Amino acid sequence: MRKVAIYGKGGIGKSTTTQNTVAGLSEMGRKVMVVGCDPKADSTRLLLGGLSQKTVLDTLRAEGEDVDLEDIRKVGFNGTICVESGGPEPGVGCAGRGIITSINLLEQLGAYAESEKLDYAFYDVLGDVVCGGFAMPIREGKAKEIYIVVSGEMMAMYAANNICKGIVKFAEAGGVRLGGLICNSRKVDNEQEMIEAFAQQLGTHMIHFVPRDNVVQKAEINRKTVIEFDPANSQADEYRTLAKKIEENKMHVVPNPMSTDDLEKLLIKHGLAD
Ligand code: ADP
Ligand code: MG
Repeated sequence: MRKVAIYGKGGIGKSTTTQNTVAGLSEMGRKVMVVGCDPKADSTRLLLGGLSQKTVLDTLRAEGEDVDLEDIRKVGFNGTICVESGGPEPGVGCAGRGIITSINLLEQLGAYAESEKLDYAFYDVLGDVVCGGFAMPIREGKAKEIYIVVSGEMMAMYAANNICKGIVKFAEAGGVRLGGLICNSRKVDNEQEMIEAFAQQLGTHMIHFVPRDNVVQKAEINRKTVIEFDPANSQADEYRTLAKKIEENKMHVVPNPMSTDDLEKLLIKHGLAD
């Protein structure tokens, strides 16, 4: 089983990209579990056709330790398994710890057992910067393969660079590796070129350039991935291509994060050139 985590700045498109990619993998016959690691608990909404009723932490709070696997996971689009870890009550406790509690519980209850025949577990993780809490899935070796969703906007690249610093910190002990950057386009000038150059500096690759397209919003309003909502749409093919590239990806590296100065120079060089 491959354990994949998707990181990136808030609002960059992690949940959308994860669910569409997972939908693509499910079409390829892969069995995938998605674990939402964001207190917003919206990482599986498009696969489930609506927000999951209960998160793992809610269930633990309501039912104590006596929890069954079927209380916390739901079957979504094309047989995908959906879990939302949820969060602590606002202002109380560390959301990162909640993530680990949830993953540990899933392990105890046998969600990752051979008999489940999972090909992938995907973690959709909140985090602009790698706060100790949200680095938990990497730190504890729960996720081995990281993809960072990024765009050509400075703050998205800045966050991606910080996430790389987090990966470096835990690469030796936990064995975590960067699988690549997913550019989720914001239609910034020279965006593809800029992210390719950024990826090269980090020692990785831009695994795919996902265009910005309004059909993503249309599908979202209908609580569906694009793959389910409009399977013939070219945007659905973009996500299928990304799924295939992840399946075939052989590039797993310890990244070389950039200095802030060099990152700004790269932005100026590519962002202002045309
Ligand atoms: P995150 O999980 O990183 O916080 P979301 O996946 O919730 O971000 O995406 C934020 C918003 O951006 C959503 O409303 C989503 O529909 C939109 N979005 C994401 N990717 C695209 C895209 N490729 N084209 C158009 N809209 C997109
Ligand atoms: Mg999200």
